[in-house]
Amino acid sequence: MIPREDLRAHASAILYRIGAAATVAEVDRLQDEALGESSPITAARRSLREATPDQKRALGAIVNEVTTTLADALAARRSVLAEEERIVRLAAERVDMTLPGYRPERGAAHLVMQVWDEIVDIFTGIGYTVAAGPEVETAYYNFDALNTPATHPARLESDTLYVDYGDDPEGVLLRTQTSPVQARWMESHQPPVHIIVPGRVYRRDAVDATHTPVFHQMEALAVGEDITFADLRGTLAYFMDQFFGKHTRQRFLPNFFPFTEPSAEMHVSCHRCDGSGCRTCGNRGWIELLGCGVVDPNVLEAAGYDAGRVSGWAFGVGIDRLAMIRHDIPELRFFFDADLRVLEQFR
Ligand SMILES: [Zn+2]
Repeated sequence: MIPREDLRAHASAILYRIGAAATVAEVDRLQDEALGESSPITAARRSLREATPDQKRALGAIVNEVTTTLADALAARRSVLAEEERIVRLAAERVDMTLPGYRPERGAAHLVMQVWDEIVDIFTGIGYTVAAGPEVETAYYNFDALNTPATHPARLESDTLYVDYGDDPEGVLLRTQTSPVQARWMESHQPPVHIIVPGRVYRRDAVDATHTPVFHQMEALAVGEDITFADLRGTLAYFMDQFFGKHTRQRFLPNFFPFTEPSAEMHVSCHRCDGSGCRTCGNRGWIELLGCGVVDPNVLEAAGYDAGRVSGWAFGVGIDRLAMIRHDIPELRFFFDADLRVLEQFR
């Protein structure tokens, strides 16, 4: 049997250490030491099984007494320490709402998309509809429906990216212009037509300062009764006023495109030097901006229109080119490099 005095001594030593315990973890360790499997109190409790009734009475009372005393002391100390630890933890985790925060990075539309949206706004503002079509196109819509002869050099594999599709490898391609959407639109709509077609186009070009294999173009088409080249000039003058400012002047030089006749290239007076010559215009005072013309009657007939009754004009302009000219950007590839140092200047 374990002497009763030993149990009391054990209990008072542990009680003293409970009072001095500084953390909940320390109280947990003391709990194990005081009342755990290998503690003298547990040993004494076990020895009661073989004890005589007198011994049971005497020792049992002591065992219960010290067990209760220690358990109460452990619980009380644990509760005090837990509260202290909670206060310390809350203080450490406190968030100072007055500290300045981190401003999240905000994205912005790419400059090409900003210009795209701006042109769409200019034309929808005067009643045009935005039309769209497939980027993987047939040779019929990309060339034939637009009066492009079978021998035209633009059809060569050196200029056009063909798509290996079925048993007709010559017939499917990545559209080289947004013009096929004109043909598709006219097939399914009767005049009058007033559409713009912004979109991505593809050409087999090596990358240099002004060429990339993919770029952005916008086509405009107007068809109706009594539409002439003068209407085209008036519309382009309005477009230039809105995009570059009211001071710009335009001039038209003869050119050739398969789907317009007559065809012209439009030059615009340099918006930076107003025609006196600068780096942007290469000291010429004028910038070649776009191709345009009166829609060839063959194109109208191919779409099922009566070319004797209706006429129209069309122009096509590079969206990237407009952005480069207005913002003095020297290299087309800046638009495709995703270099934030460049793009962040246009947000
Ligand atoms: Zn200039």
